[in-house]
Order: sequence, then C-alpha cells, then structure tokens
Amino acid sequence: MTSGAGRFAPSPTGDLHVGNLRTAILAWLFARSTGRRFLLRVEDLDPERSRPETGQLLDLTAVGLTWDAAPVRQSERTSLYLEAIGRLAADGLVYECFCTRSEIADAPRAPHAPPGAYPGTCRNLSEDDRARRRKLRPAALRLRSGVAEFTVTDLLHGAYTGPVDDLVLLRNDGVPPYNLAVVVDDAAQGIDQVVRGGDLLASAPRQAYLASLLDLPPVEYVHVPLVLNPRGQRLAKRDGAITLAALAGAGMETAGVRDLILDSLGLPAGPLDDALTAFSVAQLPREPWVFEAPFPAKPGPGVFPAPG
Ligand code: GLU
Repeated sequence: MTSGAGRFAPSPTGDLHVGNLRTAILAWLFARSTGRRFLLRVEDLDPERSRPETGQLLDLTAVGLTWDAAPVRQSERTSLYLEAIGRLAADGLVYECFCTRSEIADAPRAPHAPPGAYPGTCRNLSEDDRARRRKLRPAALRLRSGVAEFTVTDLLHGAYTGPVDDLVLLRNDGVPPYNLAVVVDDAAQGIDQVVRGGDLLASAPRQAYLASLLDLPPVEYVHVPLVLNPRGQRLAKRDGAITLAALAGAGMETAGVRDLILDSLGLPAGPLDDALTAFSVAQLPREPWVFEAPFPAKPGPGVFPAPG
C-alpha cells in the first residue's frame, strides 16, 4: 500500500463516451493495482462549457468504479490557484500579458519556435508600457519560463521531451487555466499517479515544469492509448452511439459496454474486481482501440443535451 493516489479528472462538458470510460477504468486499475487511493476531480473551470457533473458520476458508478473521497470541483478552488500564482510571482516568475489571440498568431517568432508557442511579446514591457496597456485591456498573467523544453518519464512512453513556453497562469477574464489547476490540484489531492488519455502527453512537460517551480512532488505519468473511430479520428458525438445512454438506446446495456471495454484491454468480462486481478501493465495494448459505434434506433435519455 502506498500513501499516494490516482485519479480521473473529467471535464463536465457532456456525457462521458466509451473513450472517457475506458480511460477512467484504466486509471482505476492502475491506482488499485498499486495500492493507491482513487480520486475524482471535476474540471469545470470553463464557465461556458461546464454542466452539472451528476450524469458523469452516475456513468462512472454504472461501469463499477468506486472512489475514496467526495469529488472536488475546480470551480470551487480558485483561491488555491491564486495562491500558487502568488508564490510564482514572489519568485519573479509572473508577468502581465496584453496580447490578443490574433496578435499572438501574427507575431514574428524565432525560426525553430514550436507552433502556438507564445512569442514573448509582453515579457519585457516597461512599467510605462504596462500602465498604458492596462487601460486598454485587462491583462492575462504568464509564466516567465526559464526553459524551452522539459522532459518527463511516462510509464508507457519512456522519456518524453516537449516544449515549454510562457504559459498562461490566469486568463484575462480571471479564470485559471487547466495547466495550472491540474498541477495545483494533483499535489493538493495527494495524487502521485496521473493516468489519462495519450492526447495529453504533450502537456505533461509544461505541467511537470510548473510543478517543479512550485516545489511540488513529481507524479508518475501514464498516458494511455486513445479510442478512435473507424476513420482513425478521436471519438466525437457525430460518431453515433458512444455514450452509455445512447448505447442503451441502441440495445447495448451498460454491463455489455463495460465488457467490451475490458475485452479491448485484454481483460476478462464481468465486475471490475476480476479485471483488477488479471491486470498487468505488460499485457496492456499500446495501440489505439478502434470503436465502431452502432447508430442508436432512438437517442438515449442522456442527462446532457442530445448529441448535436
Ligand atoms: N479534464 C481533462 C479532460 O477531460 C483531463 C485532464 C487530466 O487528466 O489531466 O480531458
């Protein structure tokens, strides 16, 4: 038994789909098989896209997941994020940025700068410049990064090096961004194992770098293969019945969906405890799983609005 914890951290923007559920089951298996606690975090920082998380929690319960504490909601934890920004600012690592999206897109950058990296426009503004710009536009806060890249170790991918730029620490509407919140929350919740979709591997270097600046303990990363549609794209609502409610509408009960997911992982059908007994990292498939969704005869009674 270790003292650490694993977690699943969904954004409550719609019903979970089989890809989300598969990642959640994997996160649970990794945590439980290593004696860790398993925690949930509702990543509801985006006020425009976030919905109540009730439906997602019901779906996680329905496939058999259990967790060890009440889920935390990021929207209720702003003071923690501001405190972290304050600590970085005290170290001289925060600056105001007045750039619009299009200014960032159009700014000249160094020849080898990674696409989308912040070009540093506001990094060295004079106090007069800042005072003038504050009157025109509220500032975002950015990290004065001391590195251009950072390396993390992932259990499935090995050493992974990715770019780190002057990432946003507070949006100019006062909302803390995912990259800061995830780092602060993982540490605050005692999480030391981060199992999530492989699409987030590219974010791990900047998150691990931020954690190092905040003197937070490093986590073990496990970026698991994604679930794709038959055309090789990430699952999306237009792919048909991909949520539990829609699959039920197409005649597949929740236990059947769970068993299909377990089969895709090379694990036995049935309650998750049996899968836990059989689970080993070595037998885990390393390739994406292609899920061909049946189209529902009628839409399922989802908690969230019907797929658009
Ligand atoms: N909230 C993110 C998502 O739903 C996951 C973030 C994470 O696991 O670090 O894609």
